[in-house]
Amino acid sequence: MALTEAERLERIASLIPTCPPPDVWNGMDRCPNHGGRWPCAQTEANWLARGLDRSEAQRAALDALPKPADYYAGPDEEYDPAEDVRGSVGGGF
Ligand SMILES: [Zn+2]
Repeated sequence: MALTEAERLERIASLIPTCPPPDVWNGMDRCPNHGGRWPCAQTEANWLARGLDRSEAQRAALDALPKPADYYAGPDEEYDPAEDVRGSVGGGF
């Protein structure tokens, strides 16, 4: 029985799972599974099958990584010093 276009793409996406993003916060920029560029062909194929925009999916995957403690959010994101004091971990005492 013929699959619909959507079913076909869903099958492709499930057959080609994405690779996890590299740990960019520790200087990694290569696919942890393939050792080449990331997103690798496999990851891109999955996104393509799911109709995701490559740069958006890439940004979302990297944003989902746990950020280092000294991460600087940049000038376009709100920074609340009070929040920082309350939320600080691993401090002196
Ligand atoms: Zn890969």
